[in-house]
Amino acid sequence: MNRKPFSTEQLQQLKQVCSDAGIKLTHQRLEIFRELLSSGADHPSAEEIHTRLHKRLPTIAIDTVYRTLATFDELGLIKKLHILNERTLFDINLTPHHHFICTRCKGVKDIYWSDFDNSSLPDLVNNMGEVESRHLEIHGICNTCLEEKG
Ligand SMILES: [Zn+2]
Ligand SMILES: [Zn+2]
Repeated sequence: MNRKPFSTEQLQQLKQVCSDAGIKLTHQRLEIFRELLSSGADHPSAEEIHTRLHKRLPTIAIDTVYRTLATFDELGLIKKLHILNERTLFDINLTPHHHFICTRCKGVKDIYWSDFDNSSLPDLVNNMGEVESRHLEIHGICNTCLEEKG
């Protein structure tokens, strides 16, 4: 499993994308992006980002976090995940990957599976239209939860 480092490169990309789109990169927006970068493979929710930021930015409103995350999503800077149809999480990792979701602790783990990504899809799928991307959501009980029970 190779995890890409989250770097200043992405910070540069943010500045570029925002200026191309004519969006002002406010201090709060920058801090939200920084928080996403430091979250790494953590897949935080808007509420979690808000809680973490609140220590540094006591005046930040949850609405600002919601709106900024929606903007970042539209700009293609992050990916929005709807986990188990009940939670919206955000992924800063734009490298194609899939997710293992624990139905007990709701933890989300990244899965890199290039064999699947590069495999040809069945005609059944191809005949439905043009495929742009594929994302697998695998549900189960993670090893940590299994051990706790055992
Ligand atoms: Zn678990
Ligand atoms: Zn992910």
